Amino acid sequence: MSTLALAFDLGGTELRGALVERSGDVVARVSEATLAGAGSEAVIGQIITLADKLLKEHPQARVVGIGACAPGPLDPKAGIVIGPPTLAGWHNVPMIDILSRQFGLPVRLENDANAAALGEWRFGAGRGAASMVFVTVSTGIGGGVIADGHIYHGRRGLAAEIGHMTITGEGDRCFCGNVGCFEAVASGTALGRQATRLTAPGDGSLLRRLSNNGDVSARHVVEAARTGDATARQLVEAEAKWLGIGFTNLLHLYSPEVIVMGGGLANGFDLLAPGIRATIEGRAMQAYCDVPIVPAELGDRAGLVGAASLILWEGEPGTALAMVQDEETKNGAGGASGSSQSDRA
Ligand SMILES: [Zn+2]
Repeated sequence: MSTLALAFDLGGTELRGALVERSGDVVARVSEATLAGAGSEAVIGQIITLADKLLKEHPQARVVGIGACAPGPLDPKAGIVIGPPTLAGWHNVPMIDILSRQFGLPVRLENDANAAALGEWRFGAGRGAASMVFVTVSTGIGGGVIADGHIYHGRRGLAAEIGHMTITGEGDRCFCGNVGCFEAVASGTALGRQATRLTAPGDGSLLRRLSNNGDVSARHVVEAARTGDATARQLVEAEAKWLGIGFTNLLHLYSPEVIVMGGGLANGFDLLAPGIRATIEGRAMQAYCDVPIVPAELGDRAGLVGAASLILWEGEPGTALAMVQDEETKNGAGGASGSSQSDRA
């Protein structure tokens, strides 16, 4: 069996573990509900139990390290989970120290959005791009930026809080306290809230029938829009406009080669894409208008494979580039083509 990493994706509701190959293939996967209210010791106990289970089921696995991701804020260099709002009792938990002492293996830590960005960049929809922005649109909006072949970290690893850039002066208050955050107007939660406001229980609308007269969710909106429901279509159009405004900012700020959209709302990507495109073409400067906006490819394993790549791809760029460089090194052909990175450096 080839070299593997143990990977963990610690979320507020689910804890996932996996054995992952360098290719990004997942050899084995386990998960359980996170004991999110029980404090850090209990959750780290869960991680250790899942790791033991994976290793016991695959005794021949050559595990070279552990890659983990958790909700921010966290400091990836110091290896500290600073205090995620979705995990009670986590204050400056030295996750790398704890896990490396427990397993005697190198451990790397990244915030979950950055790990998913790495996953999509190395193995998914962003393969081969030198610069990429990953945006996950679900309950909230998060993201990660790959800039010139590296995750863009900023001070204390806190860069790319895409969901909290201000894109309007009105609307509902964000949980961060501000009005007009990208997340507050364009997340799946915001879309569901708009749909709930536009309809009423028992009004016979398709949206309320789909939700059994409860609150309408983004999933119901996408489902209703697919059948041509007029209200749902309008909601999707407005959603696409907000996403287009946010994406225009990202194009202007980071000049990526591609924007990858993931999260639950990516299920409606085909419906949203024309409106996103039209908004970008109406607002972005000409030089940015041809950048592709594409749906994510890896679904809920993006974080796991991205976290694994922190160990298995350490210090290396994305897949396509790395493979070209490997070939050139192997053949000693760096000078022959005259076009390799090292020649220019
Ligand atoms: Zn906010």
